[in-house]
Amino acid sequence: MERTLNTKAATDNKVDVLLVGAGIMSATLATLLAQLDPRLHILMVECQADVATESSDGWNNAGTGHAGYCELNYTPQAADGSININRALAINAGFEISLQLWSSLVEQGLLPAPKSFINATPHESFVWGEKDVAFLKARHALLSRHHLFADMQYSEDASTIAQWMPLIMQQRPANQPVAATRVAYGTDVDFGALTRHLVSGLQKHPNFTLLCGHQVQALQQGSGHRWKVTVQDARTGRRQIIDAGFVFLGAGGGALPLLQKSGIPESRGYGGFPVSGQWLVCRNREVIRQHGAKVYGNAPLGAPPMSVPHLDTRYINGQPALLFGPYAGFSTRFLKHGSYLDLLKSIKTGNVKSMLGVARHNFDLTRYLIGQVLQSHEARMQVLRRFYPQARSEDWELAVAGQRVQIIKQCGRQGGKLEFGTEIVSSADGTLAALLGASPGASTSVQAMLDVLQRCFADRMATAEWQGRLKTLIPSYGESLVDDAELLKKVRQRTLAALGLGVYCPE
Ligand SMILES: Cc1cc2nc3c(=O)[nH]c(=O)nc-3n(C[C@H](O)[C@H](O)[C@H](O)COP(=O)(O)OP(=O)(O)OC[C@H]3O[C@@H](n4cnc5c(N)ncnc54)[C@H](O)[C@@H]3O)c2cc1C
Repeated sequence: MERTLNTKAATDNKVDVLLVGAGIMSATLATLLAQLDPRLHILMVECQADVATESSDGWNNAGTGHAGYCELNYTPQAADGSININRALAINAGFEISLQLWSSLVEQGLLPAPKSFINATPHESFVWGEKDVAFLKARHALLSRHHLFADMQYSEDASTIAQWMPLIMQQRPANQPVAATRVAYGTDVDFGALTRHLVSGLQKHPNFTLLCGHQVQALQQGSGHRWKVTVQDARTGRRQIIDAGFVFLGAGGGALPLLQKSGIPESRGYGGFPVSGQWLVCRNREVIRQHGAKVYGNAPLGAPPMSVPHLDTRYINGQPALLFGPYAGFSTRFLKHGSYLDLLKSIKTGNVKSMLGVARHNFDLTRYLIGQVLQSHEARMQVLRRFYPQARSEDWELAVAGQRVQIIKQCGRQGGKLEFGTEIVSSADGTLAALLGASPGASTSVQAMLDVLQRCFADRMATAEWQGRLKTLIPSYGESLVDDAELLKKVRQRTLAALGLGVYCPE
């Protein structure tokens, strides 16, 4: 649909685009829009005093540049033993799209030195026991045949694995069957730093305005498909109404309540189930120094997919760190800084059936979460010692991570289904979009925001002008990295070099 351009300052309370939330999703969408049409007047409204204080903050997520290299839950095994690699292929190609945009922004000088937000950190999977070793071997055989994963190494040799992950191999029984895979150019991404860099870049645009300490409270569609958005100043309590042509609900856990308030028919039936995360954070510098990878294992029985345990080298605000987890927790809040009433308030007549359906059919998950919440420090250390046998309790401290709100969707006979991915919900007229869910999350934020543009700015996306700009920013745009090995080679050579992640030299 047509949108009128507003070239005046935001003070007249009329904008082309209003983004709720200053996390990685809104920052990415605003960056793309500002690149595609610098005349668009964009307003970003954030309820906290600063940007990226929720899930996108470095300490609130695992910082894994999800590419399917190490996450075993992206290649599920069916009861007949077959392994499906399609999700890993799609996520890998999706992450390459993010890498391309970040590379272009670094090359244009719009992002600073890549080390300040992304660092090469080998992605490794580690398993023990005959059954899991057979699975990893078969997974590697399938993946490494595909050009996206051609560089993945595999080993069952204890001394090779000890070089890849020394802490994990110390004091392991010599007769235990073990196996590992490794991709050297896996990444750790400080999504908090990246978000702050993107927003600083946007603040240089005359048509971009950031409003922190302001909460979006309500939204209603008025005449001409435009939205009246009620924004409240957290300090003074003063309210103002902003008139917006397009609204993006990039509010993380806060997106569902706002989507419900929008009243669009597409919001019906959606509910949310909050799962909080916790890490053990290592405080011993000598131990931190000895580990230099992200090592993912297999999820325990009954655990939700995001609870795959991993021992993780991190670079947060430029400093190396070591985390283990996540341990799941339960809180009725939808945001880390949210209200305990969030879950209760999200139950509406339109989604009560889906919510009850999920409550009835997910006893395993409920039992798992209760078990996690009741764990003592020593019980958490025991889980860590399955990975790192010599871990000392006094070196590790519990820290609370971000809050995820898993999507509950209406579905046939069960009433409702719990989903662990991300989903974009948009209005039929393309004036509103919301991002729900959390996985693979920030890593594929660029692809997710391109999807928002495709749905909500379809007319402009079809123009030669926007197509040309997208091709400059993301050279593989419109083509498939899953199908085209030559294209992948060119793209990966460039992104690894531009972001300082290593040298790509396939045969
Ligand atoms: C424990 C954990 C581990 C994770 N690990 C990874 C990982 O390894 N790799 C990965 O790629 N992804 C990971 N993720 C997912 C990733 O963190 C999220 O997908 C991503 O940060 C979501 O970004 P966002 O911008 O949508 O939300 P957020 O970063 O949560 O930002 C939403 C913003 O909206 C604001 N807001 C909310 N309501 C309102 C309102 N009404 N008015 C104004 N402002 C509002 C909030 O204050 C917040 O700043 C993880 C998440 C968690 C919780």
